[in-house]
Amino acid sequence: MRAAEITGQGVVEVVDRAVPKATGDLIVVKVLVAPMCTEFKKRRDGEEDRALGHEAVGVVVDAGDSRRVAVGDRVAVMPHYGCGRCYLCTSGDYMHCPNQRDVLAETGQEYGAATYAQYLLKPDWLVVKIPDDISLVHGAMACCGFGPTFGALERMGVDALDVLVVSGCGPVGLGAIVQGVTRGARVLAIETHPYRAELARKLGAERVLNPMEEDVPALVRELTGRGADAGIETSGAPNAAKALALSIRSRGKLSVVAWAGDVTFPPLVKQGLDIFGVWHWNSLTHAEEMWRTVRKAGPLIDTMVTHALPLEDVSEAMDIQDAGVCGKIILLPHGELDGSPLQPV
Ligand SMILES: [Zn+2]
Ligand SMILES: [Zn+2]
Repeated sequence: MRAAEITGQGVVEVVDRAVPKATGDLIVVKVLVAPMCTEFKKRRDGEEDRALGHEAVGVVVDAGDSRRVAVGDRVAVMPHYGCGRCYLCTSGDYMHCPNQRDVLAETGQEYGAATYAQYLLKPDWLVVKIPDDISLVHGAMACCGFGPTFGALERMGVDALDVLVVSGCGPVGLGAIVQGVTRGARVLAIETHPYRAELARKLGAERVLNPMEEDVPALVRELTGRGADAGIETSGAPNAAKALALSIRSRGKLSVVAWAGDVTFPPLVKQGLDIFGVWHWNSLTHAEEMWRTVRKAGPLIDTMVTHALPLEDVSEAMDIQDAGVCGKIILLPHGELDGSPLQPV
């Protein structure tokens, strides 16, 4: 099978690897959609990675001994390889499991734990069946497109009465905007890149504030009266969490979703904020809510996914990500989707 690997500074190659084999609870998924996350940063930074990607949607082609899934099931693949036994895994918070399985070492296989590839090995409980009425591209939002910010919106209880501020309009932030709009909230966004600011507006952000040119907390207060009710930090920029906290009303809520270094906040007691660190969503308890969100958000997802490229064009796809002139990019490891030939999105 074909699989992409970062082999040096600025170099991503598509190479031939052995197709993984199902065994026990480990199933094989034929990856039809591999959404791109932040892997391009490794290429930029010259960090070698022979197992690229953690987002995938596809079809089960070998169900091993699974009683949960069957050959032909259309599934969204959840990240990582939680132990499946601890309190975090059994409650659906497997992202935080400290005892990740090494499924390749366990089964003596050389390859199969990467999603920038044509086939993937996964424990059967870490895939979610996609309802028949939802397309594979839309279903792929259950990975990082919607996943982390769906978790944040659920934990903060954001609804139609709220003003939500989304800090950073990369693919994760754009997913937050789409979901905020889909939940009926009033959405403001913070972004410096003109392409992404424009895309945020197209997706329903009422206003996109530029922290290089504007006093964001003062403007949010002016636009909302008392400050926003909730905020999601997706940018990872050094002062972003602080500016976002100052944009939120007293007793409001803030989620940090960005992976970055230490996070700086203003003094917290005065505002009495609830602050959440959110990595992903709970697919064991909230799959139905995720699919309802995806159904409702359909046309916005079609705007948010700006590029669909065959896996063989992964280098070009990463060039686009380097320039920031994209929303969510999906790779098509088999060059086609849902059995039909590749159409540009
Ligand atoms: Zn991701
Ligand atoms: Zn666990």
